[in-house]
Order: sequence, then C-alpha cells, then structure tokens
Amino acid sequence: MADEIDPEITLDPENWQALAKLGDDVLEDMFDYLENVRERKVWQDIPENIKQCFNESPPMKPLSSKEVYERVKHEILPYPPGNIHPRFWGWVNGTGTPFGLISELIIAAMNANTGGREHIANYVERQLVSWMREIFEFPANSSGLVTSGCSIANLIGITVARNQALDFDVRKKGIMAIKKPMILYGTSQMHSSIQKAMEILGLGSDSIHLIECDENASISIDNLRAQIKQDIEANLQPFVVVGNVGTVNSGTIDDILALRKICDEFNLWLHLDGAFGALLQLSSNKYKIKGIELADSLAFDFHKWMHVNYDAGFVLIRDDKLHRDTFTLRPSYLASMERGLAGGGYWFSEYGLQLSRGFRSLKVWMTIKRFGFDIFGRLIDQNIRQARYFADIIEKQDNIELVAKVNMNIVCFRYNPGEIDEEELELINKKILYAMYDRGIVAPSYTRIFGKYCLRIAITNHRSRLSDLDILLNELNEIIELLQ
Ligand SMILES: *Cc1c(COP(=O)(O)O)cnc(C)c1O
Repeated sequence: MADEIDPEITLDPENWQALAKLGDDVLEDMFDYLENVRERKVWQDIPENIKQCFNESPPMKPLSSKEVYERVKHEILPYPPGNIHPRFWGWVNGTGTPFGLISELIIAAMNANTGGREHIANYVERQLVSWMREIFEFPANSSGLVTSGCSIANLIGITVARNQALDFDVRKKGIMAIKKPMILYGTSQMHSSIQKAMEILGLGSDSIHLIECDENASISIDNLRAQIKQDIEANLQPFVVVGNVGTVNSGTIDDILALRKICDEFNLWLHLDGAFGALLQLSSNKYKIKGIELADSLAFDFHKWMHVNYDAGFVLIRDDKLHRDTFTLRPSYLASMERGLAGGGYWFSEYGLQLSRGFRSLKVWMTIKRFGFDIFGRLIDQNIRQARYFADIIEKQDNIELVAKVNMNIVCFRYNPGEIDEEELELINKKILYAMYDRGIVAPSYTRIFGKYCLRIAITNHRSRLSDLDILLNELNEIIELLQ
C-alpha cells in the first residue's frame, strides 16, 4: 500500500491536547512576563554564550514544542529591546498592550492572507480606513492601507505623489522617461525613511532639497517658497513637500496650513509624516494639528503612540483613484470573480506593494475596540505632561541643560557644568549614556541638535509614571557623581 511506503505527513500535532496545554502555559508565562516587566532591567547585554546559541547549522531534525519553548524562554525572552518597560524612552517606540497578546493569537490561528478575495479581513481593514478618514477628516473618496510601519507608509505616499505629477505613465515608461529632476522638499529634521523612499523610487537623494528651519526647528516657509521658485527657474520639477508632524529629534510640527497654501500655489503634493505626531489628533484640543485634514497623503504608525503591538502603520491617501492607479496590477490569476471566495470588489493588494499580507488590521481593530479612541488621546496628554514635568525638574538643576525647546513628549538635555568645550561635553554625555545602559534602570537615547550631542527621552509609553522620571533624574545625578 502507498501509505506504508510513503505515509502522508502534516505539521499538525499528534496530540492536540498536549499542545493546547503548552499554549496555556505559554500564555500564562507571557502575562507574567508583562505584569512583572517593571521588576526587570530595561535592557541587558547579551552574554557571549547566548549569542553562540544563534550560530548553529541549519537544523534538519525537529525538537519538541516544549524544547523549542524552553530555548525561547532562556535564550530569547531575557534579552528584549526594552520598549515594553516603563522606563524605556529611547527613540520613538510604542509599548504594546497585554490585550495585544490575545489578538496575535487569533491572527495566528486564522492565518488570513489579506491581499484580496472575499473574506472578513477586507471588511475589518475597510472599517479601519473609514475610521481613519473620520478621525483625520479626509474626504469620502480617500483610501487607506495598513502597512508594516510608517517607512512603508511614507514610501507609498511619495510614490503616489510621483506618479500623479508626471504627464506620462511612469509605471510603463520608467524613470528614464522623466525629463526634469523631480524635487522633494523637507527639512533636515525629516525622517530617514523619506530619503530611502526617494532612493528606491529612482529619484535620488540629491533630489531632496532641504529647506532651512526656523528657530523652532520647523520649516521656514519663506525659504521654501524661494527654493521652489529657484528650482522652477532652473528647469527642475518640484513635486512634493513633506511636512513633519512630530519630528523624531524634537517633536516639531511644521506649519501645515502654510505648507498647504504653498502646495496649492505651485501645484505640489503635500505629504505629511506623522509617524507618532498624527495621533495628537486624538489628544486634547490644545495639541490638535491645524490643517492635517488638508494633506494629500498622511503616513503614521499604530505601533507608536497607539500601542498596537509591533508592527502596524497606516497611510491615508486623499484620492482613492490615484492611490489605486499607482499600485493596481491584476493578472488573470488574480482577476476577481463576481462572487464567492474569489470575489470581493476591493482588494488591498491594489493599494500597496504586498500581495500576501498578514491580518495586521485585526490587532489594530481589536486594540481600538477594546480601549476606544479616547484613552489614546488621554495617554498622549499624559506623556506630554510627563515630558513637561521632567523638563521642569532638570531646568532647576544648574549642571543640566535643555538642548531644544520641549515640544510635546520629547526632552533633549545634557550634562553641562559649564566651562567645558563641545568635544569634551560629547564625551562625558556619551559616558553617562553608556553607564545608564549598563545599569539597566532607565533607557533614554541620544541625538545631535544644532550640532550639540545630547541625551533624549521620547515618551510614548503608557506604563511610565512621574516617579519613573524621578528615577531617571536620580540615575543621572548618581552617574554624574560617579564620573567625577
Ligand atoms: C518612526 C518614524 C518613522 C518610521 O516609521 P517606522 O514605523 O519605524 O517604519 C518615520 N517618521 C517618523 C517621524 C518616525 O518617528
């Protein structure tokens, strides 16, 4: 019999109950892991013997489920990047939620590919698109897509901007047919993903014209207008202005209303990078961003200030048709049928690069349904208050200075006892930061603002409390003392 020679195999467990039991144990461990995160170090160095565990040759033979989990427990779980910890304020990272565990479980069970066809994921994602439309007051014919993050959301926005600006079909003719260099405008504070987008689109990073900032690190409108005029005269083709809605360095927001005006004047696309800042729309009135609803495209993240578990971002495009025209491609094996499994009029694969896509929209939907939009706004207000609190306490200390104006949730500061030159200051502040990482109690990051090296906290953390910022100050002072 065929079966005896070549028995049919599967990846399903032989013993479902045993796997379910392991699942129960893992779930319990993971909730413990989160509940007790405060008791652990924010971050710790990975020991050499652990690094060696990831130098194996390709395993051809299996381990048991339990054995794999044991390895994860000892070799992986103790060495996270730290962003779930209440005293992690490095870069701009979200915290995630314990409820997110449950959504990840369901996503894995359904294992839905959400590129297209007729199934419930499309309706979940379309629900998100319509919620985002409403929150950002975009028109009814705008479109959106859940992405892996804001980098891809930026790429998508700028791709649509490029394609619609050309009077020929660049998808068909390629960038070789572009006659004049296409210019993107932004500031030095713009995120690196914009440059990557320009590189990938074949337009090149030289085609980014950086506009000087005013004293608040936001784009200088006069300089922008002058540069556009100059470029047009030089026979270049301006096509998009990128507005910052919360820069990584200092949380600066450009004057969106003024940018819209200029874009209208010169017929340019207005793309907004609001990775975390766009969510200020959920916060109290005083922080709302004027003019965000006027963008042609808006990119932001759910995994930063909305704490959806990594990863999930979003792009909203003002005109569904322009969006779809940029990405739609339906060879015969992807043609829709009128109804049934291969039906569904709205395929998200026509709005981005991915055909196969996981069910990211479910974790976003579940997070929103579980908590409601209001609380994210209140958490944003809370983080801003915390940043203000920390800025106020360090301002009182004469050996520490604020390096940039405190916008929103970001505080840039450094140790500066006076009478030390820039080079030396940089060295000392780096030492302080190394010491903080080694001690593992707090995790700020660093940046350079107006040439000054500084420590930086970006509070996008729903676990942080004011007392955690007191601990940061304490660490800072203890380390300064030790370095004397
Ligand atoms: C984080 C960030 C990005 C990139 O987003 P990812 O989700 O990391 O891809 C882009 N712009 C700004 C302002 C950011 O803070």
